[in-house]
Amino acid sequence: MRLCLTVLASVTLAFSMTSARAIESVDLAAEALIVDTHIDVPFRVYRNPETDVTRRTAEGQFDLDRAKSGGLNVAFMSIYIPASVDEAGNAKSLADELIALVHKIASTAPDSLAVATCTRDVEVQKSKGLLSLPLGMENGGPIEGDLGNVAYFRDKGIRYITLAHSKSNHISDSSYDSNEPWQGLSEFGHKLIPEMNKQGIMVDISHVSDNAAWQVLESSKVPVIASHSSLRFFVPGFERNMTDEMVVALARNGGVIQINFGSSFLTAAARSWSKNRTSAISAFQEEHNLQSDSEEVAAFRQDWTMQHPYPFARLADVLDHIDRVVKLAGIDHVGIGSDYDGVGPTLPEDLKDVSSYPNLIVGLRARGYSDDNIKKVLGGNLMRVWTEVENYAIANGNGPSCESS
Ligand SMILES: [Zn+2]
Repeated sequence: MRLCLTVLASVTLAFSMTSARAIESVDLAAEALIVDTHIDVPFRVYRNPETDVTRRTAEGQFDLDRAKSGGLNVAFMSIYIPASVDEAGNAKSLADELIALVHKIASTAPDSLAVATCTRDVEVQKSKGLLSLPLGMENGGPIEGDLGNVAYFRDKGIRYITLAHSKSNHISDSSYDSNEPWQGLSEFGHKLIPEMNKQGIMVDISHVSDNAAWQVLESSKVPVIASHSSLRFFVPGFERNMTDEMVVALARNGGVIQINFGSSFLTAAARSWSKNRTSAISAFQEEHNLQSDSEEVAAFRQDWTMQHPYPFARLADVLDHIDRVVKLAGIDHVGIGSDYDGVGPTLPEDLKDVSSYPNLIVGLRARGYSDDNIKKVLGGNLMRVWTEVENYAIANGNGPSCESS
């Protein structure tokens, strides 16, 4: 009986400590500025136009309801251009369409959402209780080899550009593309960096090859970002993530790495699961001479997945990545770029959608981070970089055009 009481008492204590911590974390989530630099809502809505993220949605990882309960303040909307669209010559028109779509989403819920184009917008909108939606372009294809398009997209509100995506393009080699025509940046890419600096658009080195990332770090006059990348240390051989040396150089440049929450960015086990599955499927396809969209392949995929459950990463893995950046580069160079709506159902337990940021706060506190340092990770670091990029543009005659004037 005494044992039972002791167990009960400790369970009650543990429960009240956990719930107290959870309440405190919700408080901090409400107080802090939470900035997530990569959320793939526009392409999700583009593919399923009936989706209304201003209402609770059953699918996906972002909607207004969940964003509010997670305390999210700034959600960079990814203007994602697939490499195939770029190759087909339709990159610029798709970018225009996706940008218009974000404005349409914001106008559906003007009491809750607003497009943001400068750091002051973010402050003003937070004070009004609005969720800010700045724009980041994922794939520089829409620049179409014309430096004039940098100002064009700046005027349309684009505030970062990920130079390439899954394939090398006219600007840069991609980390996913073994064909590296430029050995880094193209000649045009080298001209694009100073132009982006001048126009106040952050240069994003997520997705580009190592050579390209190094060349950007050498040439950018202002801090750069990795909008949704994690650390290669934990996923050896995965060039899409950053090496320790790159993180150190990024910090020297004043920049910030925004940690991607996708499990395959976080652990080698999740990464090799995808690889193993892909090779098992292609072996099956080849053996039976089947098309990738055939019923047999779909059944094989399902069966393989049942037999090999996906090894989800945990919140602790995200914390390990953050800890390591802090150890390598200090607290001022890490943030969050979840890739919600971009990495499918591969998200860690406890970080499943935009309502999950309080869990991150609980985790960071448990690892001894002060509230001031947690605020840096949640958004302070990214806002510092954005402000520096804005200031450089102002010094070059390009003041930020804000939505809230
Ligand atoms: Zn991406």
